[in-house]
Amino acid sequence: MFLFQRYKMANEEVNAMVETVPKDMRQLRACLVCSLVKTPDQFETDGCDNCENFLHLKRNRENVMDCTSSKFEGMIASCKPRDSWVCKWQRIKDFVPGIYAISVEGRLPNHMIRDLRSVGIVYRSRDTSKR
Ligand SMILES: [Zn+2]
Repeated sequence: MFLFQRYKMANEEVNAMVETVPKDMRQLRACLVCSLVKTPDQFETDGCDNCENFLHLKRNRENVMDCTSSKFEGMIASCKPRDSWVCKWQRIKDFVPGIYAISVEGRLPNHMIRDLRSVGIVYRSRDTSKR
């Protein structure tokens, strides 16, 4: 399921990943904007590592539930997103290292999409089944 074997990881890269890697595999959720996969608790405690500036998930359970989805398919472990063709293909090359979903079902609430637009971000759904 994971592509760890494809990467030659230096120790510091592995350590850099620890913070974003899901700690509990049972009830994972994926960010609707960047597709980063974590537990709801991790999203609530740390926010989304890529989207916190505009999604504001920290200490906001409601936003966590609105902006992440428990329905997603496939996972990619990304350690050096900038160098990886997988990440270019998934449009995640500028994101922090971590676990990313390949397809995320669901859509951001309209008010969130408006908020994103107001800071110059055009939201694209990560739901590949409806493209
Ligand atoms: Zn995100």
